[in-house]
Amino acid sequence: LWAWGVLVGWQLFLMAIAPNVIMPLFNKFTPLEDESLKARVQGLMQRAGFTAKGFFVMDGSRRSAHSNAFFTGFGASKRVVFFDTLLKQLSPAEMEAVLAHELGHFKHKHIVKMMVTSFAMTLAGLALLGWLAQQVWFYTGLGVMPNLSGSNDALALVLFMLVTPVFTLFFAPVSSWRSRQQEFEADAYAVSQTPGKDLSSALLKLYQDNASTLTPDPWYVKFYYSHPPASERLLRMKTA
Ligand SMILES: [Zn+2]
Repeated sequence: LWAWGVLVGWQLFLMAIAPNVIMPLFNKFTPLEDESLKARVQGLMQRAGFTAKGFFVMDGSRRSAHSNAFFTGFGASKRVVFFDTLLKQLSPAEMEAVLAHELGHFKHKHIVKMMVTSFAMTLAGLALLGWLAQQVWFYTGLGVMPNLSGSNDALALVLFMLVTPVFTLFFAPVSSWRSRQQEFEADAYAVSQTPGKDLSSALLKLYQDNASTLTPDPWYVKFYYSHPPASERLLRMKTA
C-alpha cells in the first residue's frame, strides 16, 4: 500500500508539473498570434463547456515533423497548445476538428478512466507481488533459492519484473480494444461539433504525414493498435 501510494502520488505530481515545469525545459512556448484561429477554438470550447486559459504554439519542429495539438490543465479551464508543425499542415477548420476530437476524450472522461484503471492495475500488481514474495514455489519454480531465514523482497521484485511481461502480454488486446473504442467515441463527438469532412481530411493528412500504413493486417490491429486504422475511422464517421 505504501509503494502504491508513492507511485500514484509521484505520477499525479508529474502530471501536475509537466506542462509548466518539465515541458518548457525541452521546448519553447509562444502565445498564438492567429486571432481568427483563437476565436474559432474559443467558440468550439464554449459549445463544449470548456474555457480557454491561453493559446500557445510549441516549437515541435525542433525535433521532428510529427504534429499534434493538445490541452493541458485540470478541470474545465484548459490551455491549448499547438505544435508549429500542425499549424503549417492543417487548415483552421481541420484544426478545429482535431481539437474537437481531443475535447471528446475529455467529455467522455477517457483520461480519468484510463488513470483509474492504471492505478487499480498497479494496486493489483503490487498485491500479487506481496503475496508471491511469501511463496517458496515462486522462487524455486524460477530456479532461485530464497533466503529462508531473511527477507527476499529485492529478489521477489526482480523476479516479478522479469516474469510479468509474459502474462501481461495477454492483456494487450483488451487495452488496445478499449483504446480504439475511445478513439471512435472521440471521433463521434468531433463530428457532432464540427463538419465531418474537416476531421476526415485532417486525419488523412496526419496519417499520411506519420507515414502509417492505410492497410494494416487486421489481426495485428486487434492485438496492438491503440488507434483504429484511418479507413475504419473514416467509415465510422460516414455512418455516424
Ligand atoms: Zn484520440
